[in-house]
Amino acid sequence: MASKNDILKFIEQNDVKFVRLQFTDILGRLKNIAITERQVERALEEGIIFDASAIAGFSEVESSDMLLLPDINTFTIIPWRPQHGKVARFICDIKNYDGTQFIGDPRYVLKKSVEKAEKLGYTFNVGPECEFFLFHTDSEGRPTAKTHDYASYCDLAPMDLGENCRREICMVLEEMGFEIEALHHENAAGQHEIDFKYSDVLTAADRIMTFRMVVKTIAQRNGLHATFMPKPIFNAFGSGMHINMSLSKEGKNLFNAGNGSMDISDVAKMFGAGILNHINGITAVANPLVNSYKRFVPGFEAPVHIAWSHMNRSPLLRVPAPKGEATRLELRSPDSSCNPYLTLALVLEAGLDGLQKEMQIPLPVDINTYSLTAEKEKELGIQRLPSNLLLAIEEMKKDPYIKEVLGEHIYSKYIAAKEAEWAAYNNYVHQWEIDNYLTAF
Ligand code: ADP
Ligand code: MG
Ligand code: MG
Ligand code: MG
Ligand code: MG
Repeated sequence: MASKNDILKFIEQNDVKFVRLQFTDILGRLKNIAITERQVERALEEGIIFDASAIAGFSEVESSDMLLLPDINTFTIIPWRPQHGKVARFICDIKNYDGTQFIGDPRYVLKKSVEKAEKLGYTFNVGPECEFFLFHTDSEGRPTAKTHDYASYCDLAPMDLGENCRREICMVLEEMGFEIEALHHENAAGQHEIDFKYSDVLTAADRIMTFRMVVKTIAQRNGLHATFMPKPIFNAFGSGMHINMSLSKEGKNLFNAGNGSMDISDVAKMFGAGILNHINGITAVANPLVNSYKRFVPGFEAPVHIAWSHMNRSPLLRVPAPKGEATRLELRSPDSSCNPYLTLALVLEAGLDGLQKEMQIPLPVDINTYSLTAEKEKELGIQRLPSNLLLAIEEMKKDPYIKEVLGEHIYSKYIAAKEAEWAAYNNYVHQWEIDNYLTAF
């Protein structure tokens, strides 16, 4: 862990000229304000004032001045910026002008949940798998929805045209302190995945935001457009953000059943039960866009049903082949358009709720759930995930724990924003309607 003085010295000795103060709005978009190196000392001591009234879900015009307070652990050079007069960044916490905590800061929501876990002696470890598409840009540099290659899962060049861009993304991420575990072409044409090593949940959420910024920027520098939109192409695989997770105490993985067992521990089962119990209400946050729900269709490795399984890749919650200390649960519904701070806070607290109430996990569903008929679903008592944003918002309102975790401020602003988004979509006349109704009626 660096100290303020270490950072100030580093800035002076390494010709850092600008420092970006980054934060995330409630809708999960990265924002920043740049300051010059002369302001950094003041920023670290008092914070930097910014006008929060224009940031989605933050504040009203009457109380718009807020403070950005850099988290010194997040300091890093931005590698693609000039080497003379370098640019660095901090991820910031947000305070009210009087220095008190601003309750609308998503990072604060996650920090609160982490504190709750820490009081119980738990560390929540998270390894996300972020999928994305690379698309062509047009002659004016604007994004298109044309994929830049026709390759599929784990294909190589020359089929895989994203190789160079993906490699450059990984090099930059490593320079920024990421430990990359794997990178590969994904199922759909133009679709990719880069996995980085798991970490404590706050670090993981910060890294997800950094990852999105790096992927988009490096793609642009390669003349491509990167998107984390969940389902950009109808009838092709969508992009998810699987969340691999485990809970540890005193360095020991509590999900490990021990003795070389192929099962997961009771702690893992109760934690998983908590997630299954609250997933309906979490979904509007983990899958925030109208488009997110177009991913929840059978046949594309995205979940449709609320079920868990060993190995099987159709259910919501999967247990990857348990291997001692690497034992983990994988939540397969979230996508990369979500706010990672809010999503991970909800997932963590759902798991803790399961532990506290000693919830029983239902029987695993080790069949391909895509083939379930409505009758079979009923017989097995298997529910479906909400199938559109409106239904997900309704589920969010039904589960009081969601509001408890997010706090009244974020909860109400979030719902208002998503209801407006649904209404805008719902009132629009789509191409599908023209194609199907214009001549038929
Ligand atoms: P998949 O088999 O679903 O494609 P990947 O191999 O792509 O999974 O990703 C696995 C992710 O799980 C990586 O981010 C890895 O660091 C993470 N991971 C491994 N062990 C643990 C653990 N004990 N707790 C949390 N995450 C873990
Ligand atoms: Mg993977
Ligand atoms: Mg893998
Ligand atoms: Mg994948
Ligand atoms: Mg996965």
